[in-house]
Amino acid sequence: MAKGGKAVQSDIDEKIRDEKSRDEKVKAKLKTKRAAKPSSKRSSTKKSGVKNSSVKTKTVKKKSGGNKTATKTKQSLSSRKTNKKSQHKKPDTKSKTIKSKPQLASKLLKWYDKEQRDLPWRAKPGIVPNPYHVWLSEIMLQQTVVKTVIPYFNKFTSLWPEISDLANASGEDVRRAWAGLGYYTRAENLHKCAKLICEEYEGQFPIFAEELETLPGIGPYTAAAIAAIAFDETATPVDGNIERVVARQFAVDDPLPGVKPKLKQLATTLTPPRRAGDFAQAQMDLGATICTPKNPSCLLCPISSSCEGYHLGIESTLPKRASKKPKPTRYGSAFFALREDGAVLLRQRPPGGLLGNMQEIPTSEWTENKEQAENMLKSPPLKGEWWPVPGIVKHTFTHFHLELKVYRIIPGEDAEYTLFADAERCKWVNRDKLADEALPSVMRKIVQHALNS
Ligand code: SF4
Repeated sequence: MAKGGKAVQSDIDEKIRDEKSRDEKVKAKLKTKRAAKPSSKRSSTKKSGVKNSSVKTKTVKKKSGGNKTATKTKQSLSSRKTNKKSQHKKPDTKSKTIKSKPQLASKLLKWYDKEQRDLPWRAKPGIVPNPYHVWLSEIMLQQTVVKTVIPYFNKFTSLWPEISDLANASGEDVRRAWAGLGYYTRAENLHKCAKLICEEYEGQFPIFAEELETLPGIGPYTAAAIAAIAFDETATPVDGNIERVVARQFAVDDPLPGVKPKLKQLATTLTPPRRAGDFAQAQMDLGATICTPKNPSCLLCPISSSCEGYHLGIESTLPKRASKKPKPTRYGSAFFALREDGAVLLRQRPPGGLLGNMQEIPTSEWTENKEQAENMLKSPPLKGEWWPVPGIVKHTFTHFHLELKVYRIIPGEDAEYTLFADAERCKWVNRDKLADEALPSVMRKIVQHALNS
């Protein structure tokens, strides 16, 4: 039956209401999208590295766990989020990442077998590594570059060819041999550790990282390095070189040092079950020779196909670092006494603390208060007339800069110590024999400054 005029009109009104309501819903949706769009643009242009890195990192992890559905979901989410330019770029990069990451270890090991650096502590191919050499080199390499370490390693192994020889050496001899290498608590701990290994482990290092970590001077990194390199345990040491390679491979652009645990976790995913030690050394060599901090030679890199940082063109900016607090400066005075017979006054520093037990040219307290430091001439170790040597000796420690004003005296044979001298710790050493003393670099600078001015 046909509807009456009123009924028809009512249908029309209802349709108009429906359409209006649909229109309003669509408008609301569009408004939300528009509001969201500028921030999405901002993140894809200004921080494209950040976004790409985190999404791709997750993708790789899912993929390596075999969860293809999760990977696809991530990919489609990612392509919806990014602008046209990065939509075009990302799938290409990602597909390369997915294909080549599992091959990374084997490619790098192949490269290492041909290109590894010849280092005195490194076993030649086919030779079992010497744990004493691995341990000694790893302790020396803490905070110190390879080039500086090589002569010290050679000196130690020629003075003390076995760990038992080192354990039986005197503390003073070890400190003398270490002088100039810096971070002197390492020398104390090295000696303690050698004694402990000989007394409690019959001269054999434990093979697992957990136990190695309980020994003096061995932290998580060194324990993992010794376990992997000396004993082929599947451990993952992560030093500065490895951090750089991993940050670039996964395009991680969160800043150091906060991102260290994440880099360690990612590095662990790369470590192969066999040849973990060679793999760690391969990354170290790559970081030292090809994946260098500035201008990495990506065209020569054996693992460039899996490198997300390289494919995004951001490799040179990685790893990022949080801005450091400026180091404070401490001031003090150094007292250089040189007798006419050529003897120089030295003093042994107190045990523990900075430069603990090492020899020094007697110095005043080091203070950040410059005015107080200027009065330090009141605390020389010998009575007599001290005169200032022109210029300043500057040195930088990990946490502060040091500026020392040097004073000099030519004391008589009968010169008396002052109350500041701590006479029991003082001794006279002929200037020709100073090179044999356990004098840290800053003290050698003072000697040079006083003699040359
Ligand atoms: S491709 Fe370049 S940035 Fe990436 S690991 Fe190799 S050298 Fe480093």
